[in-house]
Order: sequence, then structure tokens, then C-alpha cells
Amino acid sequence: MAEIEFLGATSEVTGSCYLLHTRSGKVLIECGMVQGGESEDRRNAERFPFDIEAVDAVVLSHAHIDHSGRLPLLVKRGFDGPIYTHDATAELLEVMLIDSAYIHEKDAAYENRRRERAGRKPVEPLYTRDDARAVMESLSPMPYRRAVDVLPGVVLQLYDAGHILGSAIVVVDVTEKGATRRLVFSGDLGHKGAPILRDPETVGAADLVMMESTYGDRSHRSWSDTWRELGEILSRARAERGNVLIPAFAVGRTQELLYVFRRHFEEWGLGDWRIFLDSPMAIRTTKIYRDNVELYDRQARAVRREDGSLFNLDNLKLSESTEQ
Ligand SMILES: [Zn+2]
Repeated sequence: MAEIEFLGATSEVTGSCYLLHTRSGKVLIECGMVQGGESEDRRNAERFPFDIEAVDAVVLSHAHIDHSGRLPLLVKRGFDGPIYTHDATAELLEVMLIDSAYIHEKDAAYENRRRERAGRKPVEPLYTRDDARAVMESLSPMPYRRAVDVLPGVVLQLYDAGHILGSAIVVVDVTEKGATRRLVFSGDLGHKGAPILRDPETVGAADLVMMESTYGDRSHRSWSDTWRELGEILSRARAERGNVLIPAFAVGRTQELLYVFRRHFEEWGLGDWRIFLDSPMAIRTTKIYRDNVELYDRQARAVRREDGSLFNLDNLKLSESTEQ
């Protein structure tokens, strides 16, 4: 029977990676970056704990770097098979992996200036933008709910995980000796009722489920409470003539906030503010969100039909560069 090796994110939340061994070959599921500090950076550069040449295919649940960030390294070190992922994830990856590579290049350049002064040998970036571009050529994008033969007897389907655009629950049916077993990798799951995207789909039956549990020990409060609190923060800041700085993930959270601003524009008096989106990566990923209307939930589709875009804010300024 097929076997699964757990290679990351077991006692921590980043660095997701599983290797599925079947009779007809090996499939790597996720190839995530470990995130944290300097010691994590060193771990990302270590050799992969498997023979890269023996991996036949990769499946990626979504574009976040803790699931996708080591793909350029995998390709750079010799993987040349297909990487299956959702169509929208493929679009997001192009932005995210190149951004990630750019950070590695800049970090290495900074370190090398220090090393040069100290007369020490230069370091190489973990991977470069060219390495990230090479990943794009291996991508095999697919929609939700389409069965794809990854290997003989190994059929892959992606179900909507509702976490970020294109995020998927990975469903693998492995048939060996006439018996089919269904393996389900939840990936990161969305929060029911979240703005823009549909709620996570249910898979029905499975023989084995690998489930993410990052917030498994916490009960989220309701969305309406969250929005009420955000509205209160904005009106307090307005009364005190202050500014509001919102740190937000570039993919997912930023788009949710812009959409919620649009929906509460009058109620929260947002016309009196200037709103800056200060992240070139968030600007690019917002465009990808804007164009993938078919992945929206019903409410977001209705808003988009009426407004032409979910993010139609007259007073939104996009800061594309640090000079602005
Ligand atoms: Zn994620």
C-alpha cells in the first residue's frame, strides 16, 4: 500500500512537505519554506531529505511561501517533473516566488558587502529570480474538481479550500492491486463566512486525512464582531485625527480588507480618508484577485456585477515603489 513520509510542519507551522510513495512512483505534496529567523534560513538551504531524481511529480495546495517557497530550490537542484496546482495558484506563484527570490538576492548582496569588507568568501542567494522563473515552466495548472492522472493508478483532484485564491484541498486516489484508497491533504483551510472566497468544500469520504491545525486550538469570533471592531477603530482614529496602519498579508488578508472597506465605505466614513496600499506584491496579487471572478462567493459576485470590481475605492492610492 502507498506510504506517506512527513517531511515538515510536524511540530511547527511552516515548511509543509509530504512525500507519497506509491507502486508507480513518488509524489511530493507541498515544498514549503521554513519561516522564522536565521536558523530557519539555514535549514531552507539544507539538502532535501529525499532523492530529488526519484520524485515524479509535485502537487501544491496553494501559493503561500510556507507551502511553495522551496520549489525554486527543488527545480534548481534537478527536479524536472510536472508541478500540479490550481490555475489561480499558478498566477499567484509567479508574483510570490519571484518576490521571494528577490529578497534572497538582496539578503545575499547585503551579506556579501559585509563579507567583502571582512575579507571573507561571498555567499550565494538561496535561489535567484531566474530559478523562480524556471518553476513557472514546470507548472501544470488545473481547475477544481477535475480528475488528473498523475501516475498510473494515482488520480489527483483539487477541491476549493477557501483559504486564499486558488487554494485547494488535495485529494489523491491511489489504486493498487485493484483497491482504491483516498488520501486527503487539507492544506490550509479557509474560515467559513470569510469575505470574497467560497467556504471550504467538504470531500465526503476518505481513507486517510492529513489536516492542518494551526488555529485548531482556538475559536474564532464571528465575522460581524470583527468588522464591528474594525469600524470602531477607524471611527476612533478619525475622532482623534489619527492615522491607521494595518499590517496585512499581501495575499488574502489585503484583498479581504479592501473589499470590506468597499462594502462599509459610507458606514465607516471612508470617503474622508486617503487609503494607501503600500506593497508592490499586494498590488500585483490584488489584480489577480480582481480577474478571477469565477472563484468568488455569491455575495462577492453580486458586488462585482454592480461595481465592476471588488476593490473600487476612489481614494485608494497604490504605492508601487519605496520612493513614493
Ligand atoms: Zn496558507
